[in-house]
Formats: sequence, structure tokens, C-alpha cells
Amino acid sequence: MRLSDRADVCVVGGGLLGTAAAYYAARDGLRVVLVEEHELATGSSGAAFGGVSTMIFSHADIVVPEPYVRISQAAMDLYAELAEEYDPPLDYDVIGQIDLWFDPAERPHVHERVEGLRALGVDVQLLDGDDLREVEPALSKEVYAGTWAPQDGMVTPPMAVWAQAEAARRHGADIRVGVRADRILTDGGRATGVLTSQGEISAGAVVVCGGAGTRALADTVGLNVPLTCARGQLFVSERIPPLLRTSLHNIKQTRSGTMVYGITRESFTRVLNATTETTAAGAVELTSHALRTLPALRNVQLMRCWAGVIVTPADGYPILGPAPGIDGLFVGVMNRGVAMGPAIGRILADLVQTGGCAFDISAYAPSRFAGGATVKKEMPDAYYVPAG
Ligand SMILES: Cc1cc2nc3c(=O)[nH]c(=O)nc-3n(C[C@H](O)[C@H](O)[C@H](O)COP(=O)(O)OP(=O)(O)OC[C@H]3O[C@@H](n4cnc5c(N)ncnc54)[C@H](O)[C@@H]3O)c2cc1C
Repeated sequence: MRLSDRADVCVVGGGLLGTAAAYYAARDGLRVVLVEEHELATGSSGAAFGGVSTMIFSHADIVVPEPYVRISQAAMDLYAELAEEYDPPLDYDVIGQIDLWFDPAERPHVHERVEGLRALGVDVQLLDGDDLREVEPALSKEVYAGTWAPQDGMVTPPMAVWAQAEAARRHGADIRVGVRADRILTDGGRATGVLTSQGEISAGAVVVCGGAGTRALADTVGLNVPLTCARGQLFVSERIPPLLRTSLHNIKQTRSGTMVYGITRESFTRVLNATTETTAAGAVELTSHALRTLPALRNVQLMRCWAGVIVTPADGYPILGPAPGIDGLFVGVMNRGVAMGPAIGRILADLVQTGGCAFDISAYAPSRFAGGATVKKEMPDAYYVPAG
């Protein structure tokens, strides 16, 4: 069947970012069509751990990138607000998060990092092992120290996608699964729609949130979106009685009682691996870390494992904003889409409507990769909060 439609905005991608953008645009009264090649939440968003945090683990710099933190803070507020509206629920819980370590050498710049975050109003404390065990009694005696961020939370990422999509539908968005965007259509330097596997959708604006698929689609209009991909594995246990009061960086207990352990370090070291197989090495790594952290897990049965692809822009920072040289085309791709998702959706919906947004996202502009550049570009000094 060939469809030919007219929308105010066509969103590509049914993950956390695309459904958030569709939701806000539809809530603001725009006619929205979202196309998803497979099913909703089948990309990274379906595999993610679900940490909603301001702690910015993914950038091991001493200094703290301010817009990153501001957007993450806004996302937490939006999650809290939206948890009231969404049905099905998001599974969003603000129970605080601990990032812990066993040896002081594991976090050489943690003081500077904590100071930088505190300067931005993030409630985060550096605690020694005993103080951490006051907050989280299940922690092992081996834990040396950690950071404690009581405002952090967790969400079940696929549930957040389904909730956002459902809320977007309630505001009139047309969410189409099994429809692949093959090409972005342009006319006279302006995006005019998307050619899909089921025909053409003409639209006043196009928002591409295709995760790993963003690069190929952007290529159809000569837009360079350089990405790296890495595998992250996770394990989930049987349901057990309440063990954790908080969530740990990459170990959490869900509302149903299951324990989720993630994610393998291959995802941080950027050994490029875009496969989604699970491995014995991954099981050993995650279970050893979990047992060292929480000895009570010793006899808890593992139920299932999975892996997802972590998509990271070439320089580590989000690629977010208008495409250079093509009016009405916007891109959103990053590796902390759970923590930042609702705020990114809000930003994209604002960009479509007004060309601006409430945050300084100039450092994330897709134009930094124009002309094929993929090298790491230094961010402006003003972008960082000085250490200490
Ligand atoms: C194992 C793992 C753990 C993670 N843990 C965390 C975490 O704790 N906290 C955090 O903040 N982030 C985490 N992340 C990262 C986070 O999951 C992603 O940043 C986020 O899900 C990205 O959402 P997205 O909507 O951009 O992409 P995706 O969820 O990948 O969605 C993109 C969608 O676009 C579709 N698509 C692609 N191309 C096309 C096309 N041409 N036409 C139609 N549809 C198309 C895909 O099918 C896909 O469904 C984790 C990721 C993984 C894999």
C-alpha cells in the first residue's frame, strides 16, 4: 500500500527520543506522524539499564559539561511530571543512586567531579564505605567509597517508550510501526518529508531520532552524523524480597523484585562491537561484580540475559539540533538517552516550532561534523564548570 500523507512533523524512530519528541509535538497541537522500522523500543531503548542520573559517568573528564547536567536535571523534572500523566506507567522511581568503588585508584578525579556537579546544584555527596552502608545496608564491607546522589532515579526504558508513544497517540499522533524511512525528501534547501517503505509522508519538518540508523538516513541528504557502536550486556535475576533501598550504578532492583546487573565494560572501552550476543565472559564479569558489591545475591537465580547496542556520537557528545543547510530537518542522537530523553524530546519539539529551545545546545550542533569531520572537537571553555 502506498501512503501519501501530510503532517506538520514526521519523526523517525520509535525509541525514547523519537517518542518523546512525538509526544511533546503532538501535545503542542502539531500533526505528528512517527515511523518506526521495527516495533517500538526495539533499538537501544529496549535494552538499556535505565539509570536516570546527573552523574555523567560517560565522560571521564575532570570538568563537568554544564548543558549536559542542565538537560539531565530537566529530564528528571519531566519524568516526575509525566509519571503522573502517563498510562501505562513509566516505572520511574526516585530512590537515589550510588556509584561505588573498591579502590581509591578507581576514581582519581572524583573530588573535582563532585565539586563541579555541586556547583551546578546537583545534590551529590562523596561518602566513605561506612557512610555508604548507612544509606544502603546491603553493600559489602569491601566497598571503599562512593558518591550518593539522592535525586537520581531509575526507569524501565521500554515502558517509558510505550508510555510516551501512548501519550503521543492520545494527543493525536499517528504512530506507525513496521514502516522504514528510506530517504529524507528536500526541496530548495528545505526538508519536505520522508520517503518510507510504505510511500511518501510530506511534512513541514523532519526529526530524525533513529539511533544507530540515524547515520544512514542522514546520508541520504549528505548530512554527516558519525557514530560509534558498542555492545552492552545485562542480566536479570528471579524476583527476590526487597534488598536494595537505592539503585547502584548498574545494579538495580525493579519494582517486581528482579535484580538487574549491567552493563559489561566492553561498552565503556569502546571496543567496537555492534552485536547483541551474550557471552560467558559477560556473565562472569557482571556476576562477579554483583557478588562483590552485594554478597546477599550469592544464591539468587539468574533468569535471562540480553545485550544492546550503545550508540555514541564520534566525539562523545550528543548530536542535537538543526541540520546545516537544510531548513526543517533536526537530529537527536546520543548515548544517555534514558537519562536525558524527555528533555531531548522537549528540545526537539521546541526547535520544530520556534527554531530555539530553553538550553544552550550550540556545542551539540550537527554542523560540527560538516564536511566529513569526525575528529574530536574541543568544546568551548564556557561549556564546562571549572573543577573545584
Ligand atoms: C545495554 C545498554 C544500557 C544502557 N543504559 C543506559 C542508562 O542506564 N542510562 C542512559 O541514559 N542510557 C543508557 N543507554 C543508552 C540509551 O539506551 C540510549 O541513549 C537511548 O535508548 C537512545 O534512544 P533513541 O531513541 O535515540 O534510540 P533507539 O532506542 O535505538 O531508537 C531508534 C529507533 O529508530 C528506529 N530506526 C532506525 N532507523 C530507522 C529508519 N530508517 N526508519 C524507521 N525507523 C528507524 C530503530 O528501529 C529504533 O527503534 C544504554 C544503552 C544500552 C544498549
